Amino acid sequence: MSKIHYKSAEEIELIRESSLLVAKTHGEIAKVIRAGIQTIELDKLAETFIRDNGGIPAFLNYGGFPYSLCISLNNQVVHGFPGKHVLTDGDLVSVDCGAILNNYYGDSAFTFAIGEVSDEVKKLMRVTRECLDLGIEKAVVGNRIGDIGYAVQEHAEKHGFGVVKELVGHGVGLKLHEKPEVPNYGKRGSGIKLEEGMVIAIEPMINAGRAGVKFWDDGWTVSTVDGKASAHYEHTVAVKKGKADILSSFKYVDEVLKEKIN
Ligand code: MG
Ligand code: MG
Repeated sequence: MSKIHYKSAEEIELIRESSLLVAKTHGEIAKVIRAGIQTIELDKLAETFIRDNGGIPAFLNYGGFPYSLCISLNNQVVHGFPGKHVLTDGDLVSVDCGAILNNYYGDSAFTFAIGEVSDEVKKLMRVTRECLDLGIEKAVVGNRIGDIGYAVQEHAEKHGFGVVKELVGHGVGLKLHEKPEVPNYGKRGSGIKLEEGMVIAIEPMINAGRAGVKFWDDGWTVSTVDGKASAHYEHTVAVKKGKADILSSFKYVDEVLKEKIN
């Protein structure tokens, strides 16, 4: 088992640059995502934007993954394939994006609603994003990895939602997936100690219904067992004393979405 790679301040700044490129890519996606667009168009846009900004799409060819984005619709949890599917009103679309810049990875996911989604789905989106924020609050020196998972799980289950256990967050750096694993469930005060220099992706995957998932025989797509919706939000975060440093950002996507509504 590989060890945790603790990052220097310089390395953290490089991961911030990669993560901000991912954040801006989500902002570009937010500008065009709507009913009538094919999900493969989002993938092409992301690949072009990342390359035009000097980066490399991190997911493309990762373990044989054939696209730059993971696009997971409605009951799909993660690792869905972009394709000819045309988005329609009421779709829930989880977009996971990674980029490599100066050899360092950034990783972030955002879930978009197309047009008007059901009240249950709206609540799922809100609670999943709150789960991410609550998990990040725990990513400080002195806590343990289980404190993050506990915060996420407690909030999701309080609202009657299911926490996906088969897939977890992870360290980020010179590799997309490094030690440690960052589960979205756990016991307070359990697991490894969080220390300065750790950079982790916190990424709650929360289901409107049961927690269980199934793995498709395309080798990638993961969906809910009960066919109900799933949401996914993710930030790349540096563990710090007192307050975690969020290296990715939803600033760009939020600005675009706010303008779309007004
Ligand atoms: Mg991701
Ligand atoms: Mg990730």
